[in-house]
Amino acid sequence: MAKRITEAEIARQYDFMDEAAAINADLAAGGRRRAFIRTFGCQQNEADSEILAGMVSRMGYDLCDGVAGADLVLINTCAVREHAESRALSLTGRVKAEKKKNPDLIIGLCGCMVTQSHISEDIKKKFTYVDILFGTSELWRFPEILLERLKTGERVIEPGIGSRGIVAEGLPQIRADKYRVWINVMYGCNNFCSYCVVPYVRGRERSRLREDVLRELEEAVKAGARDITLLGQNVNSYGRGLYDDYGFADLLRDAAKIEGDFKLRFMTSHPKDLTPALIAELGSNPKLARALHLPLQSGSDRILKRMNRGYTRDTYLSLVKAVREVVPDIALTTDIIVGFPGETEEDFSETLDILRLARFDNIYSFIYSKRRGTKAADMPQIPYPVKSERYTRLTDLQAEIELEFNRGFEGKILEVLVEGKSKTDDTRLTGRTDRGKAVHFEGPDCIIGSTAHVRIVRSETYALYGELIPSD
Ligand code: SAH
Ligand code: SF4
Repeated sequence: MAKRITEAEIARQYDFMDEAAAINADLAAGGRRRAFIRTFGCQQNEADSEILAGMVSRMGYDLCDGVAGADLVLINTCAVREHAESRALSLTGRVKAEKKKNPDLIIGLCGCMVTQSHISEDIKKKFTYVDILFGTSELWRFPEILLERLKTGERVIEPGIGSRGIVAEGLPQIRADKYRVWINVMYGCNNFCSYCVVPYVRGRERSRLREDVLRELEEAVKAGARDITLLGQNVNSYGRGLYDDYGFADLLRDAAKIEGDFKLRFMTSHPKDLTPALIAELGSNPKLARALHLPLQSGSDRILKRMNRGYTRDTYLSLVKAVREVVPDIALTTDIIVGFPGETEEDFSETLDILRLARFDNIYSFIYSKRRGTKAADMPQIPYPVKSERYTRLTDLQAEIELEFNRGFEGKILEVLVEGKSKTDDTRLTGRTDRGKAVHFEGPDCIIGSTAHVRIVRSETYALYGELIPSD
């Protein structure tokens, strides 16, 4: 069951923010203090960090982009793979050194990793320099937690309950990007794929009210958003348990009625719940980008069953076919896990086979990581060198496919949304096509945030290079 936080409870958090701001103003002799927020993991965490940023700003901190000189460091952690957990802990260790220079520095850990009780217990005992810790179900109470720390100087450890399904509206937010924005439609997951920790740390599926989603969308468009991703672990479940007769396809239809020049995307869409209504919507909704992220995970029926995914390779391939019938040039992306417990060479070759058949625009590939408390953690594991060798073969094959794919764009004129200066070469701008391809080209800064036409002159595996076509 979703627990919707009342307006009165949110108003109390605003009071806590104002009280914290007054304390911080005193400590900073009327100026502002500095906070650094580091985010690991998925877009859901990025979206949460935008709320954390909104809250810290209201509490008297300016955001800074490093640990040095910060008065508050918040590490928003991820639990999906071990690697993300080790990186968060190693950053925490580095922040400890900073605390030696500035004993007043407040160190906070939050997010999925610390929502697991074995981790929060460990941090409580061994990482005594961590001042505040709060789990995903407590994020909306961050002002209260930080204020307590500021007032008492005591540690505040509130891992919360991972399965508690909170929906909180009306918290402040500072978006990381003006043009590309995330908007949550639902939270949590009920699918319990056997490898995945998300249902344990993000709780049961629950949806935001449609009027809240649509209001946020309208405000974002007014503020200049051009590329909007609707977020949820399983967006196709939107509205379940909340409305009898209103689902994700309905929400997309209502979203498209909002006036303005913007594109909509969504993630993630689980193959077992990709309905004909949603496929039809992809073909008819003028605001939807021609893009779909449809996580496959494995091409082997045997492994899909052990993963508890609820579809077969054939049903997956028929979905791809149905989607391409409706939108022939759709940009299709996927997630793949290699080295799931019990994966044989034959199972793995079936995954490679689907890559050749489906020809994805892009794949997000992961080496299976054992997660405590999940079903797959009790299955016989595959040695790391085998997993890693398969990973290399998988990414090599996809690189070949993508290069071939990108060659097909040479000489073509593509429409892109100009996002800003290229991250690797500031003499160039970077734009993104509605298929999600990055295109680099020379052009004036004044076109950032608008759409432009670019003739592609060169392609590489992961990027396209072109020349701007002047608009008249
Ligand atoms: N709800 C989304 C995925 C969330 S996690 C969905 O169902 O598609 C994002 C991706 O991380 C997953 O699609 C999966 O490919 C990967 N992943 C999740 N748990 C993992 C694990 N234990 N080891 C390796 N990869 C994992
Ligand atoms: Fe994890 Fe599966 Fe839920 Fe995605 S659908 S979050 S992979 S349990």
